[in-house]
Amino acid sequence: MEKNENNNNLNNYEEEEDDFAKSLEKDLEESTKLYINNITTNSPYKSDTELLLLSKEEIITYKNLIITSLNTKIQQLTKENEMLLTNYKQTTDALLSKLKDNYSNKGIRPETPSLIKNVFNNNNKISNKNNYQICNNCNKKILEDNYFEHSLLCLRKIFKCSVCENIMPFEEKNNHFLYFYNKKNIINWINTKNTKFFNLVLLHNFDVNNEIIDEEKKNYLIHFLVNNNAINLLEILLSYKNINLELRNKNDYTPLMLSCKLNYEQISLLLLNKGADVNAKNILGDSPLRFCQLNKNEKLSFILINKYKCKISNSKF
Ligand SMILES: [Zn+2]
Ligand SMILES: [Zn+2]
Repeated sequence: MEKNENNNNLNNYEEEEDDFAKSLEKDLEESTKLYINNITTNSPYKSDTELLLLSKEEIITYKNLIITSLNTKIQQLTKENEMLLTNYKQTTDALLSKLKDNYSNKGIRPETPSLIKNVFNNNNKISNKNNYQICNNCNKKILEDNYFEHSLLCLRKIFKCSVCENIMPFEEKNNHFLYFYNKKNIINWINTKNTKFFNLVLLHNFDVNNEIIDEEKKNYLIHFLVNNNAINLLEILLSYKNINLELRNKNDYTPLMLSCKLNYEQISLLLLNKGADVNAKNILGDSPLRFCQLNKNEKLSFILINKYKCKISNSKF
């Protein structure tokens, strides 16, 4: 009995296996059919062996099918290309508008002046075409459009002397001052009583308290003016602040000693009026009063003693 049951069971298994195998075969058959159907409907391409079996008419149809398929592909690619272009344009527009917002709302970024200048110039080109501005530095008429650039360049290339307002290339700045500090020039202007240029010497800050004009007598400018009886120029000099009245020349003379020795009354009075030391003495013990007495200038001696309280004992007789 058991054997039979077993056989029955075995037979059942075999039947089931057969059924399973059959269903698998069916599935495979159907999927193959689907696969083949798919290939033949979706892909126009045929294998070489397939092509050999085609008639002339079928080949023409086949060719047309290929052409249609290729045209469809071209259309698809063109569409894709157009979409990429549109996408690119939209992206660029978005980026540009973001940049514009940055420039207009968030102030000037360090790297944008040239861009802003371009925009500014383009916007104002017509309105500013004939507008000029006078350059503060070189006094030239400058087109308003170019004024900013000009100013930058001008200050670097052109020097305008704040004293005499002369305009010159920047490299000539030093020479300009040296011209007014040149001792030969100064002596010439004093000798020709050129008050304009003498004044310019002082205005260009010639160092009157430290520069010796006459090397031979070691005269400073103030001695030189006294020595030349140049009272007008001395008045100009003494109108400046911080002029040292007690400078000594080679013979240890103050300007007042020199003027008294030369018997220049007006210059002596001018120096005394400005506060020159009436009691100053040189290394030999000479004083302003001593020189006045040697010159027998009683008037000046009297003024020194009575008006400027010169000590008589200080003078040797
Ligand atoms: Zn200029
Ligand atoms: Zn100057």
